[in-house]
Amino acid sequence: MTVLDDNLKKLDGFLARFRDTGIRNRIGGQDVTGSAGVFQSTSPVDKSVICDVAHGTAEDIDAAANAAHEAFAAWRDLPALQRKKILIRIADGIEARAEEIALCECWDTGQAYKFMSKAALRGAENFRYFADQVESARDGQHLKSPTLMNITTRTPIGPVGVITPWNTPFMLSTWKIAPALAAGCTVVHKPAEASPLTARLLVEIAEEAGLPPGVLNTVNGFGEGAGKALCEHPKIKAIAFVGESRTGSLITKQGADTLKRNHLELGGKNPVIVFDDADLDRALDAAIFMIYSINGERCTSSSRLLVQDTIRAEFEAKLVERVNNITVGHPLDPATEIGPLVTEEHFNKVTSYFDIAREDGARVAAGGVTVGDEGYFVRPTLFTGANNRMRIAQEEIFGPVLTSIPFSTEEEALQIANDIPYGLTGYVWTNDLTRALRFTDKLEAGMIWVNSENVRHLPAPFGGVKASGIGRDGGDWSFEFYMEQKNIAFATGRHRITRLGAL
Ligand code: NAD
Repeated sequence: MTVLDDNLKKLDGFLARFRDTGIRNRIGGQDVTGSAGVFQSTSPVDKSVICDVAHGTAEDIDAAANAAHEAFAAWRDLPALQRKKILIRIADGIEARAEEIALCECWDTGQAYKFMSKAALRGAENFRYFADQVESARDGQHLKSPTLMNITTRTPIGPVGVITPWNTPFMLSTWKIAPALAAGCTVVHKPAEASPLTARLLVEIAEEAGLPPGVLNTVNGFGEGAGKALCEHPKIKAIAFVGESRTGSLITKQGADTLKRNHLELGGKNPVIVFDDADLDRALDAAIFMIYSINGERCTSSSRLLVQDTIRAEFEAKLVERVNNITVGHPLDPATEIGPLVTEEHFNKVTSYFDIAREDGARVAAGGVTVGDEGYFVRPTLFTGANNRMRIAQEEIFGPVLTSIPFSTEEEALQIANDIPYGLTGYVWTNDLTRALRFTDKLEAGMIWVNSENVRHLPAPFGGVKASGIGRDGGDWSFEFYMEQKNIAFATGRHRITRLGAL
């Protein structure tokens, strides 16, 4: 039996229960059917139906928000050590079911097992990291004035909504939910309609780990129904959102009447800038990894290659050779590097850029074709001969598609890099330290890596500028979002109080 056969057999076992009962919403520790019935989740591997999923609407969101509201005070007031222990047990539970999470995630999203096996473990790491912060999250400062001792403290903001996309749904959900729980907030989670499986596993694992009912609630449904209702609900105090930039502005509008606090992690069209003095072999490896791993469906992907004209021809030739060598295949086969794209709609979007590139006058140097017709497979694609005004250079394609744009000087590279609505990440390859300092100082991005691919460090801030988002995650930045800052001022003596109306 091959590893693929073995994985398929295991997956079949994991999915059997979903085929029987479907995925229900989880509200207040109870399984609840969707008020609008069900919708079906399909696999991008072969377009087959995975299971029915509860179709939640405003009614279900109201029930979940009320459950989160009722559970809030007890969770907030639970001694920190006890909350910490529960979060650690959730991390243990994720690790114990990492294989189930990874296989379900691959089947639901089309992501390759090669990357998703680590995504489940990254989810556990998120819980462990924020568990370690639980005891200090509420700590503050003392700020002495001539007459007062100001003492600051932080309190959890209340029940929060978490709305997540489909690209690496499990990891991204834990990235939001772990700090919210560590802060003492309760959560209503609305997973992406295209990838509901692992959100269900997460709430099960959390409850089995001792998370009280109602502290984490999961409502499935669509953005314009359940998602919108979550943003509008008066008992939900903040929305942590990950998704497209245009959805981010809808989230802001929808939350206006209830003065919602929003954290928006949005799209990107991130440049990898390769100067001719760089370690070109490492730059090549990193550029390939950052656009073709995770199906190119990653917000931080390096989807624009800015390559100095002195090395362009040689660099692109090596790139073509490597891209043509990438293995597209079944996501459960550990040898697969690129699996199918998540949905038919997304497949149509990504493949439409093959013609757009040609119409704009760029060259399809690799890929640009679909693979078979069983699922939503495409060959990894490279566009060359592009300029920064083309749609393939300006729009987030969100697939395994790289656009190569030449530059001649550092000034031109900077101008091209910044001439874009987005500003999530940037990757700079040069061995000139002074140039790296000068360039990164001017590059418009929330996160920049110099001579490196994207390697996350959980205490470091994560987030974008411009249309790529508002707010930061990671370390204490997460708590700034999920908590309110309170200042309490104590008089240190009998300072003079201005006496109005006194004789
Ligand atoms: P999307 O914006 O279409 O959907 C994301 C989530 O929002 C889904 O759960 C969806 O149901 C919900 N939603 C849609 N409309 C809504 C509305 N009106 N109100 C409330 N919720 C609504 O994004 P997607 O296609 O699922 O994901 C891909 C996008 O996510 C890409 O743009 C990618 O760059 C971005 N992303 C960003 C980051 C980051 O950290 N910056 C990480 C991963 C993905």
